[in-house]
Amino acid sequence: MPATFTTASHTGLVRRGNEDAAIAQPPVYAVADGMGGAQAGEIASGMAVAAIADSHPEDAAALSRLAETINQSIFEQATGDAGRAGMGTTLTAALTAAGRVDFVHVGDSRAYRLRDGKLEQLSADHSLVGEMIRTGELTEAEALKHPQRSIITRALGVDSTVEVDSFSVETEPGDLFLLCSDGLYSMVAPEAIETILRDSDDLAAAATSLVEAANGAGGEDNVTVVIFSPDGTIPAGSGPVVAAETRERPVPAAASGNDTPRWRRWYTLAAIALALIAILAGGSWYMTRQIYYLGVNDGRLSIYQGLPVELGPLSLSTLYRQSNVPLDELEPFEQDRVLRQELSSLATAEEILENYTDQGQTAPQQRRDTRTATTSTGVQF
Ligand code: MG
Repeated sequence: MPATFTTASHTGLVRRGNEDAAIAQPPVYAVADGMGGAQAGEIASGMAVAAIADSHPEDAAALSRLAETINQSIFEQATGDAGRAGMGTTLTAALTAAGRVDFVHVGDSRAYRLRDGKLEQLSADHSLVGEMIRTGELTEAEALKHPQRSIITRALGVDSTVEVDSFSVETEPGDLFLLCSDGLYSMVAPEAIETILRDSDDLAAAATSLVEAANGAGGEDNVTVVIFSPDGTIPAGSGPVVAAETRERPVPAAASGNDTPRWRRWYTLAAIALALIAILAGGSWYMTRQIYYLGVNDGRLSIYQGLPVELGPLSLSTLYRQSNVPLDELEPFEQDRVLRQELSSLATAEEILENYTDQGQTAPQQRRDTRTATTSTGVQF
């Protein structure tokens, strides 16, 4: 049977632009997650997928050479144009052939395979936390909340040469492959990704569910997925998937009751419990001073330092900074997000607050329209 595939990409609920890019053009598939100031990240990821679309690599060696060529082109643009200095992109690309899939991979986007209902990560993250997990310094759960979790250690375009991971896997009938940007797996636990892929009726439905799961968990980053079934065992679905321009943004978990993903709830509770134990045991105030959260002071969005916990007369947090943005200017689900008082690093709290500050005077409808989504679904004959 011919291969089936689908792609979906969404800006998410926090970022202003979508710097991810994707392509599904059998036999090649790719996800790229750009970085750099202004529009530069978008340019870098766009260059990567465009080069793959135009080049039609025929084998694994050609795909690897292509990744190096893309690196060179982005690097030249980044060094020749001050406005694009420092731009780069991740790239996770797959090329299917009879009985196998060849991959090239740089950065922290991921390739997964679902076989017999089990999800397996095929790529290794080139990120600071990825390296720390491999050396045993961090657990996967700790990595998800690490303040430096978005730092990547390899990308296309940041140096004149790049080390590209190349690997191949054999395929079996019924195998399903997922390429995704970190906006998916930083929001959605692997068990949930596995369940969605396993239980969805078709690829388009799976892609929609994955994007909605990421946004339902906070949508803190652009989220992009490419799903393909090399032997076409799983139907593509009727698409279009995730028509974000016409669809209301997903309601966050907290607004609909107890739908907060269990692992995130558990993590927050565990973090609070651990911090409390540390304070009580060691009498250490210091630890809570490394934790921040968004809250409301005097009706305005504010950053608090410490933990959102009251122990009788004792409060474990202090006001760090108050903005001029009234809470009631935000859309209801954004208010819910603030009122959830999720713990974060100072950098993350400031990024979110800055985003709301910039958008504070913009009408909700205009804001919704600035979020983009691109999708395609198909069968390749
Ligand atoms: Mg990302």
